[in-house]
Amino acid sequence: MPAVARLNPPDPIDALLSAHGLRRTGAARLVLGWLLAHPDTSYTHAQLQAALQESSAADGPGAGEGGTLDRVTLYRLIDRLTQVSLLLCRVDANRVRRYQAMPASVQAMPHFECQSCHRDSPLAGALQGNAFDLEVAAQNALLALQALGYQGLSLDLAVRGVCADCATAASMAPGPELGL
Ligand SMILES: [Zn+2]
Repeated sequence: MPAVARLNPPDPIDALLSAHGLRRTGAARLVLGWLLAHPDTSYTHAQLQAALQESSAADGPGAGEGGTLDRVTLYRLIDRLTQVSLLLCRVDANRVRRYQAMPASVQAMPHFECQSCHRDSPLAGALQGNAFDLEVAAQNALLALQALGYQGLSLDLAVRGVCADCATAASMAPGPELGL
């Protein structure tokens, strides 16, 4: 293990943003940092904006300009973070979207492996609210195994099939059967 790596550990939030191809802006650090610090809470857009404003006010003047995060920036950021599966989005009983940091148990899941173009893509965005059902199922399975004494558990869910792009291309190709 190289000693140099220990001297200057990268900021974990910056590392996450970089690893997912996102720019390390003050706003991105603020939003992801807050959600990671409150992993068990899910927020609506409005609740998250209010929480971030309160926290920057509580830090006092001069604590940072990241607190004045406008609505549009926040919405875009949340969308991007959800697309790359850093956030879990679910729709609550009132059909309002709520966001929380992706639980560690499902950080590697679920993903989709296309058998045609072999692209591997995260599914949380496509599943939307249903991603939460999978997370609950995963948590329940892990808890049940833990109760039986299993240790060091992790879970990876891959869905295999043909992606929408490949399916569309196949249906447009000339063939004996014309589709819809
Ligand atoms: Zn494909």
